[in-house]
Amino acid sequence: MAITGLRCRECRTEFPAEALYVCDQCFGPLEVAYELGGSLDAREAKRKIQAGPDGIWRYADFLPFAERPRDRLQPGMTPLVRAERLAERLGIDELYVKNDAANPTHSFKDRVVAVAIAKAVELGFETIACASTGNLANAVAAHSAAAGLDSYVFVPADLEEQKLLATAIYGTELVGVDGSYDDVNRLCTELCEARPWAFVNVNLRPYYAEGSKTLAYETAEQLGWQLPDRVVCPIASGSLFTKIAKGFGEWLDLGLVEGELPAFNGAQAEGCGPVAEAWSQGWDVCRPQRPATIAKSLAIGNPADGPYALELAARSGGGVDQVSDEEIRDGIRLLAETTGIFTETAGGVTIATLQKLAERGDIDRSERVVAYITGEGLKTLDANRESFAMHRIEPGVESFERVVEASLAQSASS
Ligand SMILES: *Cc1c(COP(=O)(O)O)cnc(C)c1O
Ligand SMILES: [Zn+2]
Repeated sequence: MAITGLRCRECRTEFPAEALYVCDQCFGPLEVAYELGGSLDAREAKRKIQAGPDGIWRYADFLPFAERPRDRLQPGMTPLVRAERLAERLGIDELYVKNDAANPTHSFKDRVVAVAIAKAVELGFETIACASTGNLANAVAAHSAAAGLDSYVFVPADLEEQKLLATAIYGTELVGVDGSYDDVNRLCTELCEARPWAFVNVNLRPYYAEGSKTLAYETAEQLGWQLPDRVVCPIASGSLFTKIAKGFGEWLDLGLVEGELPAFNGAQAEGCGPVAEAWSQGWDVCRPQRPATIAKSLAIGNPADGPYALELAARSGGGVDQVSDEEIRDGIRLLAETTGIFTETAGGVTIATLQKLAERGDIDRSERVVAYITGEGLKTLDANRESFAMHRIEPGVESFERVVEASLAQSASS
């Protein structure tokens, strides 16, 4: 696939492959356009992928670069884990968890940032910036440090402490804004006009978004060049959700996989669920919300790709659901106890939504389902802080028997 430029998603006007993101004709968003090179030899293409690097750059031929960029952190090729015990609980035969916490900065954002920064370097930028709900901040700071570039990271000031620490450590200029993510994003759009910076999710957004396609490619490759029947995926701006579909769609068009697009189920938190609200109301655009949820990484009240996410959910036979903070906490625990994977609140949203779909009978037992776990539990420790108790004992066997074994025996008999 050769990049031909950028194209407006609304009016299809074409633009050169530069740091552009909005159509000057209709104000629609731009995306990367490719030429799907005529007759592809699928076997040869698969061989080339498998001989490539052990990360997202094995898919460089499907990303917006003429040559494979140099990348020091090598995100991607995260485990696709068969989750038998979780599947059994939910009454599904074939369930997988794509554990994207296993990335260099412990979220899927390493994929999008790696692609955006590679493009920023190609276009000659020397300073990287972003508007973040947390994980993007971590990834931009780390990948900028790895590439030797200056960076500015803008976040809502009330973010989880773990995410602030795991950003500042890389030597970025961390800017906490007294406001919501939507305020931060608006500020960055203004700053972007007058500064020669690459804002990965503003003026480089078309390239940034392409990074999410690698989650689809990996899923298909790890399933033995097959597609799932259904995916469950969290929605913040809706970029990840829609670009996973773009990735599957491209490989279907190219003949690298067969079948049809999986059903796409989006997952949001009740405290910030503009896409889920629009879905349940039958609207084709979202009404902006003021976020109030423990799932801060998903707290975008005015999602840029909301209408496209709604369109995808409808077209693929999926849907969009929202879950409460309590259900999110339970989802984090359920995943941890049945798979050994500790996810952040966004993963709790995904698992709680998966559970809701299963309980409602929306998932056929025979379906092959993939749930996307996009971030790491150690970054949102407060979410489950109150949910466990520690046995506290003296350093002696008598104390262990009295405090631990006796109380376990008692609770087993009651
Ligand atoms: C950013 C993020 C998402 C989804 O982001 P989109 O804006 O919808 O692409 C999902 N999970 C986590 C943990 C994130 O940080
Ligand atoms: Zn346009």
